[in-house]
Amino acid sequence: MEKVNLKEKIRIIPDFPQPGILFKDVTPLLKDAKAFAYAIDQMASKCSSLEFDLIVGPEARGFVIGAPLAYRLGVGFVPVRKKGKLPAATIQGEYKLEYGFDVLEIHQDAIQPGQKVLVVDDLLATGGTIGATVRLVEKAQGIVSAVVCLIELTYLPGRQNLKEYEVISVIQY
Ligand code: AMP
Repeated sequence: MEKVNLKEKIRIIPDFPQPGILFKDVTPLLKDAKAFAYAIDQMASKCSSLEFDLIVGPEARGFVIGAPLAYRLGVGFVPVRKKGKLPAATIQGEYKLEYGFDVLEIHQDAIQPGQKVLVVDDLLATGGTIGATVRLVEKAQGIVSAVVCLIELTYLPGRQNLKEYEVISVIQY
């Protein structure tokens, strides 16, 4: 596939959603068919030596990246959602936000004990969201093969906070 400069397709918005944050906006990449396909293919090729049965992704951008990656890799996709959104019985996990806590959920029957999982999101910042998703997978007795992100902010301690896991990213800032 023709190479695409993915960083050119990511728009940086200063001070969103709060002062001091450089927000990496992937919407220009997503709407560009070649860039989107190239990004998913790059993620897929970095997973080629891993063993996995499923992809688990947190809402919302984890769906946008995780579902096409699952399709590309020939495995199923399992959503992790904010509290109260999933219809069947769930397993819950709390995670820390800058102020207070939030709750993520996964369906109780989404992962069979011992199934190998890739945890996928668009962006690894502090690792809070992915860390909470990893803990949910483990509560469901899944085994995390690796964490796979399109973007990694290497100036934040996401990788350090996930140091027990293999962390794979395609674009680094
Ligand atoms: P984290 O601190 O790793 O839990 O990041 C939480 C979520 O917020 C990630 O899944 C991203 O989607 C989003 N996020 C955090 N920081 C940024 C940023 N600088 N630009 C875009 N999205 C971000």
